[in-house]
Amino acid sequence: MENNNLPDNPYLLLTPGPLSTSKTVKASMLRDWCTWDEDYNLNIVQEIRTRLTHLATSRDELYSTVLMQGSGTFAVESVIGSAIPSHGKLLIIANGVYGMRIIQMAKILNIPYEPYILSEVNLPDIENVRTLLDKIPDITHLFIVHCETTTGILNPVREITALAKQYNKTTIVDAMSSFGGISMDIYDWQIDFLISSANKCIQGVPGFGFIIARKDELVHCENQSHSLSLDLYDQWKTMEGGGKWRFTSPTHVVRAFLQALDELEEEGGIERRYERYSRNQRLLVDGMLRIGFTPLLPDFMQSPIITSFLSPQQEEYSFVKFYNLLKENGYVIYPGKISTANTFRIGNIGEIYPVDIEMLVETIHRIKFW
Ligand SMILES: *Cc1c(COP(=O)(O)O)cnc(C)c1O
Repeated sequence: MENNNLPDNPYLLLTPGPLSTSKTVKASMLRDWCTWDEDYNLNIVQEIRTRLTHLATSRDELYSTVLMQGSGTFAVESVIGSAIPSHGKLLIIANGVYGMRIIQMAKILNIPYEPYILSEVNLPDIENVRTLLDKIPDITHLFIVHCETTTGILNPVREITALAKQYNKTTIVDAMSSFGGISMDIYDWQIDFLISSANKCIQGVPGFGFIIARKDELVHCENQSHSLSLDLYDQWKTMEGGGKWRFTSPTHVVRAFLQALDELEEEGGIERRYERYSRNQRLLVDGMLRIGFTPLLPDFMQSPIITSFLSPQQEEYSFVKFYNLLKENGYVIYPGKISTANTFRIGNIGEIYPVDIEMLVETIHRIKFW
């Protein structure tokens, strides 16, 4: 869907969010909404909640979606700060920045936790997780990131949650950068709390996150929150009352999100979007290999969301110069974020098509200054 009366963006964002959105998503924000009647609460907020639950599972009667103001981290913190009781313990699997952030949260919130930390280029080992669950029986909850956006690695969530369920643990999955871009049924995947946000694969603009959770788990969150504004249970109960938010809701962002959901449907749903992202990612890696770059991860670990490449070794190379030249030519990329290698990252989610990736590779080849 295109609206050619609207101005073009000066560049494409090849980043993992905020990302490039369609003109029609941006255009849907050009009006104001009141927040106490059906136009907004019922036709937009409740509609979004119902659709998200349905996108996540065919067993949608067992789950409910809670929208939470703020960036994705706020939604994660609302789950971490609301779901683990004082006698509980959280097993945190971390192989990147977003896993490590949960350790920081647990420390600040005084939540008992057990870290399982890996390097950014390693997948968690099922047998190591089993050993931890055997050795530490007071673990009640398990946290894992699906696509670790730090590198683009795709963690084996389904295997890990299946194991956690053998031990009767509650499962919390950060699917921030994958939900909407990779198919999953969270009932089959045995996920109790799934967290994502508006500005990733659904292709909305930033301003809120969402939690799709089992209702029987949400009920347990009552009176457990370490925060007033991030109280997941309270937010859920209030929203259940006709789509009301407890505090000011980001109305324009929410309206744009509904437009983004319509456009996901128009594209053919998550499967079709996954195919587009996968084609983008394949073209990117093949093209970059052709012009002399090396991806950080082997193919079997790689998500179709974002790819890390090793920085060129030549002395003349500088990321800032590379970044600025690319930006002048219409593309914004991302610096690397890992401790063991010099990298940069290129995301391929958002309103990005194979032709954009082909032109990007051509442009990189043309501006190469090292
Ligand atoms: C984007 C992202 C988040 C949230 O980051 P914010 O900057 O708070 O939006 C969390 N986890 C992962 C894996 C992400 O990609």
